[in-house]
Amino acid sequence: MAIHTIGVVGAGAMGSGIIEVAAKAGVKVVARDISPEAIEAGKGRVEGSMSKAVERGKLDDGAREAAVANISWTTDIDAMGDCQLVVEAAPEILDLKINLFKELDGVLGEGAVIATNTSSYPIIDIAMATSRPEQVCGMHFFNPATIMKLVEVISTQRTSDHTAGVAAGFATDVLGKRVVHCKDRAGFVVNALLVPFLCQAIAMFEAGHASAEDIDEAMKLGAGHPMGPLTLCDMIGLDVMLWTAESLYDEYQERFLAPPPLLRRMVSAGQLGRKTGQGFYTY
Ligand code: NAD
Repeated sequence: MAIHTIGVVGAGAMGSGIIEVAAKAGVKVVARDISPEAIEAGKGRVEGSMSKAVERGKLDDGAREAAVANISWTTDIDAMGDCQLVVEAAPEILDLKINLFKELDGVLGEGAVIATNTSSYPIIDIAMATSRPEQVCGMHFFNPATIMKLVEVISTQRTSDHTAGVAAGFATDVLGKRVVHCKDRAGFVVNALLVPFLCQAIAMFEAGHASAEDIDEAMKLGAGHPMGPLTLCDMIGLDVMLWTAESLYDEYQERFLAPPPLLRRMVSAGQLGRKTGQGFYTY
């Protein structure tokens, strides 16, 4: 199925990256957010990022203009009626996602595929809110979506092979990403392996075993990681880290997967990493 129009629901950190990558690839994008202010913010992120790409010589002016013209911004979900694929990148709140999928189900054409970028919720719980769970899958992009090559395509018990194929084909052939397929289990592949490691780094810091700088330096120089674990936690956002750790713990009930107390306290204190300028480091 050749995809010429997609929808992106939520133009925040992830949605704006997905909108940008798709628009630059020549796809028409209907970008929906909740308010005129949120749209202005999303538009600013997308167009600002494209301008930076022009400054760095990675995009020419004509390509930027064409990409900007590919995007239509709206607060109206009905504007998504012609989208063949919609990627939902709204906040990580299950009820909100379920309601959005119900709305999308009522608006989209028969063959449309609906994907969620959720980091932590069982995709089947979102899919079953629609009348077409076989057309629902996960498309888990990584932050920043403009740069990170990977997309995890997640199939629930009800996702059809056709749906997973459409999502994977779009990510690889149109967006130029690499795809891994996996089942609908907490953490998918990357977070199931990465988040317990990051939580161990937080626990080590919390115990006073080493400073944040030394933990990061150790993993960069000793394990060849491009970025230290606590810097990575700040970059992901400590709220996202907490939800993801909680989802792993809820699913497997293994003690070592429980989020460290410090992570919970930092989120309660509004220390969300780069998002708020304060986390394990100050930005
Ligand atoms: P964000 O808070 O930066 O952006 C969410 C956007 O959705 C905001 O612009 C908000 O105004 C908008 N929104 C709120 N309600 C809406 C509605 N009803 N309809 C349309 N838009 C609405 O969040 P984010 O970090 O971009 O995360 C989005 C999703 O991607 C979450 O499910 C998150 O778990 C997942 N995710 C995040 C990361 C990450 O590193 N931030 C990585 C992978 C996946």
